Amino acid sequence: MKREDIRNIAIIAHVDHGKTTLVDELLKQSGVFRSNQEVAERVMDSNDIERERGITILSKNTAIFYKDIKINIIDTPGHADFGGEVERVLKMVNGVVLVVDAFEGAMPQTKFVLRKALDLDLPVIVCINKIDRPEARPTEVIDEVLELFMDLDASDEQLDCPFIYASAKSGHAILELDQTPEDMVPLFETIINYIPAPEGDPDADTQVLISTIDYNEYVGRIGVGKVDNGTIKVNQECMLVNAHDPEKQKKVKISKLYEFDGLTKVEVTTATVGSIVAISGIADIHIGDTLCSPENPVAIPFQKISEPTIAMQFMVNDSPLAGQEGKFVTSRHLRERLFRELNTDVSLRVEETDTTESYKVSGRGELHLSVLIENMRREGFEFAVSKAEVLYKKDENGKLLEPMEMAYIDVPEEFAGSVIEKLSSRKGELQGMNVSGGGSTRLEFMIPARGLIGYRGEFMTDTKGNGVINTIFDGYGPYKGEIQYRKQGSLIAYETGESITYGLFNAQERGTLFIGAGEKVYAGMIIGQNGKAEDVEVNVCKRKQLTNTRSSGADESLKLTTPRTLSLEQALEFIDVDELLEITPKNLRIRKKILD
Ligand code: GDP
Repeated sequence: MKREDIRNIAIIAHVDHGKTTLVDELLKQSGVFRSNQEVAERVMDSNDIERERGITILSKNTAIFYKDIKINIIDTPGHADFGGEVERVLKMVNGVVLVVDAFEGAMPQTKFVLRKALDLDLPVIVCINKIDRPEARPTEVIDEVLELFMDLDASDEQLDCPFIYASAKSGHAILELDQTPEDMVPLFETIINYIPAPEGDPDADTQVLISTIDYNEYVGRIGVGKVDNGTIKVNQECMLVNAHDPEKQKKVKISKLYEFDGLTKVEVTTATVGSIVAISGIADIHIGDTLCSPENPVAIPFQKISEPTIAMQFMVNDSPLAGQEGKFVTSRHLRERLFRELNTDVSLRVEETDTTESYKVSGRGELHLSVLIENMRREGFEFAVSKAEVLYKKDENGKLLEPMEMAYIDVPEEFAGSVIEKLSSRKGELQGMNVSGGGSTRLEFMIPARGLIGYRGEFMTDTKGNGVINTIFDGYGPYKGEIQYRKQGSLIAYETGESITYGLFNAQERGTLFIGAGEKVYAGMIIGQNGKAEDVEVNVCKRKQLTNTRSSGADESLKLTTPRTLSLEQALEFIDVDELLEITPKNLRIRKKILD
């Protein structure tokens, strides 16, 4: 049976190219909102951080109606660090809308998601958005997109895709540039005509592959997936099985079943093949589980969840400072919060350490972890984190492997030299260089993830804020050897789980200094001038500065240029601790060493 009443689509877009605005507009025009009601909240990026950083982390769904056809829009994560998510999500849909900014053109992150869509043979609608921008260059951008398709070995059919021009902001789409814009109808029409309806046998044995997990305080875990086969009903008995875990075989009863409608979920009693459903009431439901008829429990294979590549310690901030303002966080709070995150974020790993004061949190890249840190800070959690460390692996011969990233960099020509120099010294290999007409240079580097830790801040300084860097995990490769960081002057020290690590700091900017002596850790700000140790000046560390720097490890490591472990003796060569101690009673706050 063809479900002509349904279309399942995903929208792919580079950050800021207008995906959220477009979905909001489709929702508005599809009549979900009464005409006098504004879209109060932006639909897909409902998380503050996502909004600020312009990325979509967890996939959320929405459904709009056009001519009695339900269009399920499955959100795709906008950042490639969440690559595993993308593939699973795309398995639920029958086609994608690729949104590309009419000025900026195709971007590397778009390429990553698009490649996955093309590999899955999904039809693509190209939507050139922001055509209202005065500097828009839609025709050129179309050529660029077609080039991208060819780069990605798109089939002839895929190359023959429809193009639409839109201004999500003004709420209209057109098929030809000389058309008079009216509304979003051309996009709605293209979606229902070009994207195939899902198909299947409603009478076959039930199979629902759980592709994402939602979490709600009241109902707990909610599995979201497509009915791949048959029909699922309330009160039906199902077998919960998993293709990667043959041991998992559990009989469950479907107590609550929902479909998506606008921004909400509505309860239904039955859903047939092709529908996107949400199921609550099964505590043990996980991504990759299949709900099947008990008499024929066949698990559907799924894309394995991407493994973490980077770890940080999250530590209880037991400093006397922590109690003064903000929320005091006990290890139980921290633990609960971190483990709760695992309900919805499957790429994250949280492990206990030898002490209850500290947890090892691993994720996909620096960005992934820094988003979590920021989220938790906003919720009022006070805690400390160590700097990021990459997770190594060994191959079957015991050779050390490390995570590698592709870095795509666009910089004005005059900065290309310094970027190449810096990244090369961080073991990056230049794999491509392209000078565009506008004086901008595109550089492509393969670089150990380790070499990128802390690089972004430096990059911004080096390119005077004019550079753009995008990175994509490229898999594990042979360990590239130690990175020799050059000494740049003044000193910074920061804590890791077990010890206090001292490192050199690029003294062009301020940084926080931690000096460990015996059981005590002293903290202060240093302001270095001319990058010379003798110019280092120690300032009083206000609580705010201390917590900020210590707790937002990712941000901090963005500023660090030369993390390197020094012994205390070596560290003392750079800074006079006695002098520090002298100002201790009045100015410097003392906190207990985290791990005695
Ligand atoms: P997302 O990151 O892809 O979800 O992008 P958003 O929808 O958040 O849009 C990013 C920015 O582009 C916002 O400031 C929007 O107002 C703006 N924007 C979105 N669509 C358009 C458009 O059609 N024209 C113009 N001029 N700006 C747009």
